Parts: sequence; C-alpha cells; structure tokens
Amino acid sequence: MTKFVYDFAEGDRDQKDLLGGKGANLAEMTNLGLPVPPGFTITTEACRVYLAEGSEPPGLADEVTEHLVALEKAMGKQLGQADDPLLVSVRSGAKFSMPGMMETVLNVGLNDHSVHGLASQAGDDRFAWDSYRRLIQMFGATVLGIEAEHFGDALEDAKKAKGTTNDLDLDAGDFTALVETFKGVVREHAGRDFPQDPREQMDLAIRAVFDSWNSPRAHIYRRQERIPADLGTAVSVCSMVFGNLGMDSGTGVAFTRDPASGEQGIYGDYLQNAQGEDVVAGIRNTLHLTELERIDKAAYDELLGIMTTLERHYRDLCDIEFTIERGKLWMLQTRVGKRTAAAAFTVAVQLVDEGLIDMDEALQRVTGHQLAQLMFPRFDRDAEKERLTTGMNASPGAASGIAVFDSPTAVRRAKAGEKVLLVRRETNPDDLDGMIAAEGVLTSRGGRTSHAAVVARGMGKTAVCGAEELEVDVRAKKMTTPDGREIVEGDTISIDGTNGEVYLGEVPVVSSPVMAWFEGTSRERDELVDAVDRIMQHADGVRRLRVRANADTGEDSALARTFGAEGIGLCRTEHMFLGERRELVENLVLAETRDEREKQLQALLPLQIEDFTAIYRAMAGLPVTIRLLDPPLHEFLPDYTDLSVEVALDRERGQLTEEKEELLANVRRLHEQNPMLGLRGVRLGIAVPGLFAMQIRAITRAAATLAAEGVTVLPEIMVPLVGTVQELQAVAAEIAEVVAEPESAVDGKPVEHQVGTMIELPRAALVAAQIAETAQFFSFGTNDLTQTTWGFSRDDVESSFFSEYLETGIFGVSPFESLDTEGVGELVEIASWRGREVRHDLKLGICGEHGGDPDSVHFFHRAGLDYVSCSPFRVPVARLEAGRAATSPEG
Ligand code: PEP
Ligand code: MG
Repeated sequence: MTKFVYDFAEGDRDQKDLLGGKGANLAEMTNLGLPVPPGFTITTEACRVYLAEGSEPPGLADEVTEHLVALEKAMGKQLGQADDPLLVSVRSGAKFSMPGMMETVLNVGLNDHSVHGLASQAGDDRFAWDSYRRLIQMFGATVLGIEAEHFGDALEDAKKAKGTTNDLDLDAGDFTALVETFKGVVREHAGRDFPQDPREQMDLAIRAVFDSWNSPRAHIYRRQERIPADLGTAVSVCSMVFGNLGMDSGTGVAFTRDPASGEQGIYGDYLQNAQGEDVVAGIRNTLHLTELERIDKAAYDELLGIMTTLERHYRDLCDIEFTIERGKLWMLQTRVGKRTAAAAFTVAVQLVDEGLIDMDEALQRVTGHQLAQLMFPRFDRDAEKERLTTGMNASPGAASGIAVFDSPTAVRRAKAGEKVLLVRRETNPDDLDGMIAAEGVLTSRGGRTSHAAVVARGMGKTAVCGAEELEVDVRAKKMTTPDGREIVEGDTISIDGTNGEVYLGEVPVVSSPVMAWFEGTSRERDELVDAVDRIMQHADGVRRLRVRANADTGEDSALARTFGAEGIGLCRTEHMFLGERRELVENLVLAETRDEREKQLQALLPLQIEDFTAIYRAMAGLPVTIRLLDPPLHEFLPDYTDLSVEVALDRERGQLTEEKEELLANVRRLHEQNPMLGLRGVRLGIAVPGLFAMQIRAITRAAATLAAEGVTVLPEIMVPLVGTVQELQAVAAEIAEVVAEPESAVDGKPVEHQVGTMIELPRAALVAAQIAETAQFFSFGTNDLTQTTWGFSRDDVESSFFSEYLETGIFGVSPFESLDTEGVGELVEIASWRGREVRHDLKLGICGEHGGDPDSVHFFHRAGLDYVSCSPFRVPVARLEAGRAATSPEG
C-alpha cells in the first residue's frame, strides 16, 4: 500500500518530489540533530490523488491518525487537549519553493476550551487569546475562503478603539473580544460556526493546503517560473512553538550569506514577540538579525553555529526560518536560498575557494538568465538626479517607470506599453501579476525578507523595500516624501535596487560593471566581475559547442568579438541593401534588359566589397558565414498600397507619369499574398540573374584582396531557404564560376572558401543526405524552420493567438523563444544524422534566435552541433550555457 505520511525523522533532502522542499529539509535537519519541533509530512502524491479524485486517498485519514498519535505521545499531550493543548501548524511545501503562493494555518487545536489551557500553561492570557484569534483569522481566510479584509478591518477597528496602531498595545481583553468578533465574521460569511473539534480543524486545514495548489496566484507563479502544473504540494504538520510568548520570544528569517550581493556576513530579520508569518508579511518593521546578539546572546550564538552547519552540509547558501520560544531556539525551515544573479556568481566562486564545490559544480550553480541580468545597464552615477528617499536594496537593478499603486493598474498600463513601477506599502501574493508586469517594485515597509523582496529576487526584478520615510497611500494613489512632496499615479520615478535609492524622473543608465568588462571598456575587477570571469573561463575551457555571432557590419562584428564570438555564423546581407541602396536593388529587380541589370550590379559590387571587407577585418582568423540575399522581393519595392493611392491621386490631378504607372504595374505583378512563403531565398537568386553572382564576387574578391595583405579570411558562402539539392547545385555552379575568375585568386589559386546551406524547410531536413553531397556545412535557420514546421508566420501569430496559447498552457513557452525540441528539434536531429552519414566532417551550426536561448543551447549541445550563432549581446550567455551543457549531469 502506498505510504502517504512520513515522520520528520523518516525522510531526507533528496525526497523533494515526494515530501516537498519544506518537508524534505525538515527531515534533513531532524536527522542532523538540529532542534526541529516534531511533526510529519503528507506527501505530494496524496495531494495529486486528492486533486485528481476530488477526495482524499483512502487510508490517508488512518495514516494521519497513526502519526498524530505518535506525535501526541512524544509531546505528552493531545491535539487540542483542554488543560494543556498540543497545537500544530499545517504548512504547504511544494517541490519548488513558491513563496507565499500557497497556504499555511497556525495554532490548529485551539478552541473555546483549550484556549484556557494554553493560557494557564503559558501563564499568559494575552498570548493565548492572540493565538486563538490568529487561528480563526487564518482558518477563516484560508480554509473557509472568507475575504481576509473582514478580519483585517475588525483588527484595525479594535486598535482604533484603543487609540493605537500597534497590535502590541492590545491586551488579553481586547483579544478575547476580537475572538468573538471573528467568530461572528465566520458565521456571517461562511454560513457555519468556526469548528471547535481540533481534528476537524486539522483535516480541513490539510485539505485547504491541497486546494491552494490550484489558487489563481499559484497558477500565475508557476507559469512565470515554469514550474510544472501537476506536481502538487506536500503538507507538513508541525508541533507549534511560539514566538509570541513575550519579549524573550520572537521569530526570524536569516540567510547564511547576503542573498543580494553574496557577501559573507549576518543577514536576516528578527521580530520580537511575533509569530511566523509576521516577518515575511512585513507587518511590523523588523530588527536586523545582529540585534539578536544583544537581546539573547545564547540563542544568537546557537543560531550562528547552526547556520554554519547547514552551509557546510548543503554546500550552498541557505535560508532559514526560526523561532525563539522563551529563550529556546527552534528551526522551522531551511532550504537552499533564492538569490540574485550577482549573489549566484559570487557565492559559487566563494564556495569553490572554501573547498566545498569544484568549478564544474560552480558552473551548474549559475545560469545564462542570471548572466544576462548582470549585463543589464545600471544608473549613471554622474548623472544629475533628484533623490526622493532611500530604502533597502532588496533586489538589484535599475528601473524607471511611472508610479502605480495597485496591481490591476500596473497590469493594464504595462499592457498598453507603458513602463510601470509598482509602489505598495507592502506586497502580498495577490500582487504577483502586478509585479510581473512592472519594471520594478518599491515598498515602504518590510525588510530584505519581506514578500516583495523575496519574490522580486526570484524573478530578477529590481526592488527597493522598506523605504519607511515614504507615506504610501494606495487608496489615494499617491505617495508623500518626508519633505511633503507628492508623487501621484503616472509620475515617473526611478529605483536603484543596488543601493536602495529612489529618484524623481527617469535617470540615465550606463553599462553595468560586468558589461563594461565584457566590452573591454573597463578592466576594473570587483568580487562580482572576478567571479564572472572565472566562471566564464571555466565554461570556455569545458564547452564543446563553439559560439559565433549574427552580425552584418564591421562594427557589430568587432563588438561580438569582444564578447567572445568565435566567428560570424550569419551575416544577413539584406540590411546592406536598405537606405540609399534600396533604389539600386529596386532598379535591378525592375530592369527589363540585360544592360540595365548589369549597370545596377556594377554599382552594387564595390559597395558589397566594402561591406565584407570590414567584417573580414574584424573577424580576422575566424570563419565568416555570409548569407546570399534572402528576403521577399517586395521589401525592396515601394509599398503596393501607398503606391496605388499615389497613382490614383496623380491621375485625378492629371499628373500621372508613364513611369509611375509602369512601376505600379510591376509592383502589382510582384505582389505576393504570403511573401514569407514566396519569392525569396535561393528562389530569388535563381529568378534574378546575376544577383547572387554579384554577391559571390564581392565575397571572394574582398577575401582575395585581404588574403593578399596577409589577413587570414575564412569565408563561408551560405545559400538560404534551399528545399532541394538542385537549387543548391545551381548556386554552387555559379560560385565555382566566380571563384575561377582571376580577381578571386590569391597567388594564382582560388581563394579559400566553403559552400553551404541553411536548413530552414522541413523538406530540406528530410533530404539532408542529398543536400550534404553539395553542402560543406548546414546552418539551421530555426526561425524559419519553426515557422515552416508549425505552418504559421511569426509576424502574424505572435500578436494574434500566442498570448492565449501561453495563458491556457497550450504552449509552455513560445517556440520562437525556446526551441520546440519535439518537433523542430527532431528535424534538426534528422538532418544532422542524415547529413553526416554522407559527409562525416559536415559542419553543423544554428543561426536562428534560439542560438542564444539557454534551454535551446543545451539541446544543440546534445544534438552534436558544432556551433551556435546568436546576436552579439547574447554571446556570453551562449558561452556560459554551452559550458553548463558540457558539464551538466544530465548531459
Ligand atoms: C532563420 O530563419 O532562422 C534565420 C536565421 O534566418 P532569418 O531569421 O533571417 O529568416
Ligand atoms: Mg530564415
């Protein structure tokens, strides 16, 4: 029979799938001998059965009873026992941490009788009634689905009646009265009484945790973080310890290193006389953890010792939740802590230096997404700026946008194309979609471990938290600075998540230190730059995939080279024919005689030679793949509709010339319904005689000239959109002819070059064996291959049904962003095998946008490609991910 319940002493940290992160780590800590309050965990499997069947799996209730009895025996008291109650917390905990997304109920077991027992055991009436009202409040909101505000408003009223804003000023009598009020709220809004039976409380709380897996905010969070929707959550039932038993009690959250920068030191928040969720919710302003040394030295020292133990044991930065109950320290949770991109790099290298991990593992501890974040710009320190206030630097980055004070507005205005900053007193899980939509988050309350800070760091969003001087009035949609200035919705502000500063207006940005280091504009090495450098060097040393860049100017090529590009994987030549040169191409396309055509080609040839020379120089010694002209013809012709209107107007005014009329006729003749599938790529080269020959001539002549100067040039001529080998053969013959011309020779021999093709059509992938007879290399054009495999055109579909497909989960991620490995990827693999069977040294590359996408890079590594090519700015990311792919335990 399936086992659904595990005692904390039964599991370990590797059982996250089954016990969830929280349950697995509670088990690990228990087995390490750390002070964990006893309890048990109900598996994610039980949750999955419940969610599928709509009821708890048979046998679960009995198993829970068995473990509860054992727990009661160990604790020497029964759940809800009237004179000395055992109380438990019921907590959610999925495989992947989803901060604040699911539910928790504390103090389960309190009722009208046991509240007296708790009071006399603790010798503290206030504490007992406060705990009871918390239970009704949490249970009411979480289990019975009552709007949390009904309880919050009642609490506020009680404080107002007392003439205070601080819940610490409420006494036992106030809380006793509040319990009655809360019971009334339950009756009114849930249509039932608050359950007095402790076991019923527990069972309903467990069910509510199961259900919370499917809450809308959990759905949004999972989509954002790409967490599979079918994992389910585990439920940990833990005996309660109390941080709200007086000033010698408290609760806190801590990190073993700074989760924002990675610096070593003491990082955390502590709140005296408070219970669990108060810290994370940012309800009261917390103390810095170092203050605990003054408050309770013994507990502080023990805590630091435990943090060292955990770090050595997990070999990583850990975060923990703890409670001190009358001087006794209890560990409530630990996990490998979420961190910023900067902290990920610095901590990984610190751990290498401490001998805890090796460089291969360090490489696995960082990601290309994180590296990309470190390359984002930061505010210009020297720019004039007007500082409004300073808060806590909770999540680094530089963000500007208009201030908005609620999430729906943030979502709406961001959708309309505005950059927004979400400003709140504090955030809660319902703000999730607002946070996703915003450039950054600013809160006036809460610390580095508040909801806003934790979630923003997880998302890589800039955040400044706890800017206490700001008076945020969410209802009036404004905030007020200490000197009385008002910022209202729509005003532009900027926040610096690296130093916590808040500015008025938009502050100009400059390259980040990591970016400046990549660009070579700064050789300043701080701990972060040093960490990035060491990890990049390691990645370069271990990776098998080469990384090239897509660039079509000498300037971009040079930039790509500073980023570590090992050649050009795609030089798109169409950009060279826009602007002033468009007319030459227009004339070429519309030319009616050979002479006319030849004239245009002669004009274009020297320009193209110049273009290629610049790129070859920037990439001296490295391969340069130049693609012959690809886009649909109409891109070089006047717009059909505009021209029709112009002609009609001219005609009306009696000014229509014969040339214009003829031009319109030609444009009409060449107009296509589906240009993406029309006269483009190799088809164009064949249909417009001399066009490809001119380009080939420029490629080989520029190369020959530079080679004669002693520059090493390695041109690779690439033919786009080939569907059958005959097309490629036709162009290859043209190439052979041009290369035989004396101007293409160096020392009497034809200049060195290769001929290859793009694989952008499913047919090309399937007949790859035939194509490989002629092609020396394949470069997968996964942009077009995605379009042609799926049968949709990117320009049309991205703005029409894609958002719906993503929302409903038909797509986990857009196939244009991350390679569709099952479909398009299969074609890549088929073409690779078939091609290499015929030509063993067939060079394989990819130059679609996927070349810079982390997940896709791993796929291309596994598929055995030789290189990926991506835009210059993504080259470092691709290098890193290629290194990670080569050292990944999954291969
Ligand atoms: C491709 O199709 O993947 C490609 C690189 O070509 P383009 O994006 O220029 O069509
Ligand atoms: Mg293409």
